[in-house]
Amino acid sequence: MIEKRYNAFSEELKRVFGCRVHRISVDAGFTCPNRDGSAGSGGCIYCGGEGSGAFGIVRGVSIAAQLEEGKEVMVRKYKAGKFIAYFQPYSNTYAPVEQLSALYDEALAVNDIVGLIVGTRPDCLPPATLDLLAGYAQRTWFWLELGLQSPHDRTLRQIIRGHDFAAFAAAVKRCRELGIRVCAHVILGLPGESREEMLATAGILNGLQIDGVKLHLLHVMRGTRLAEMYGRGEVRVMERDDYVGGVCDFLERLDARVSIQRLTGDGGRDLVAPIWSLAKFEVLNAIDMELARRGGRQGSSLERSRFDVQR
Ligand code: SF4
Repeated sequence: MIEKRYNAFSEELKRVFGCRVHRISVDAGFTCPNRDGSAGSGGCIYCGGEGSGAFGIVRGVSIAAQLEEGKEVMVRKYKAGKFIAYFQPYSNTYAPVEQLSALYDEALAVNDIVGLIVGTRPDCLPPATLDLLAGYAQRTWFWLELGLQSPHDRTLRQIIRGHDFAAFAAAVKRCRELGIRVCAHVILGLPGESREEMLATAGILNGLQIDGVKLHLLHVMRGTRLAEMYGRGEVRVMERDDYVGGVCDFLERLDARVSIQRLTGDGGRDLVAPIWSLAKFEVLNAIDMELARRGGRQGSSLERSRFDVQR
């Protein structure tokens, strides 16, 4: 096995809990302000209408039942010993605090659930919700996963994200004050974004002192506005070598302490392009091999520039 030359989340989980820990995605039946008309109604251009990243989730049953079913699969497939409940699709803080706490508590009451990851948008974090999350951050192993996708407002407008970078930065600042760890969700290869802009994102996240990062390749999913644009030849997707090189460049520019929670995503059955991304483990291996080949690691270009300044 090739050495991980970045701060892999899976390794952190093993260190903290002493066994393999897997995330189990659950669907709590939320919607999103970029779909229900509050911020927009068509959603982000790449969103398939089931919420981003919803592939593989069992719907229509309780949170506890979803977790029990997920546990069986994770034990069988990966010999996992403990689990994190991952509230993933849509905006999982987009409800009154009483409803949120009932759902999160239901998850934490399931055997061997040792923590929570809650995915949401920066415009779904009113003060009462942040206070609620700060409470979970004190009593369990808690991460807030916050959608950024890009820190460049031109790109955010292009993908019809419905919020700007300032909203994200303000939410991260407030979370830091309250002791809530934040993992930023970033998409590489967004339409209209140059390679320089894409890589500048790493430096912007360092500036915000972000705790974790999830990188995702832009996927074109069936039934989305992005798929229509792709069909008309208006957008291109990244080639595999470009993506692998781009991820390595990004990691080299990112502070070494930042937790890396994902480096590529699963497109699932509705993926239109790029098809090469379905071979997820090959992509992850290619990233490991490329970092080893160049002698790079997470944060290595920051160390090099510090050294150059000192000379
Ligand atoms: S914020 Fe998430 S759920 Fe809402 S439209 Fe965008 S990708 Fe879909």
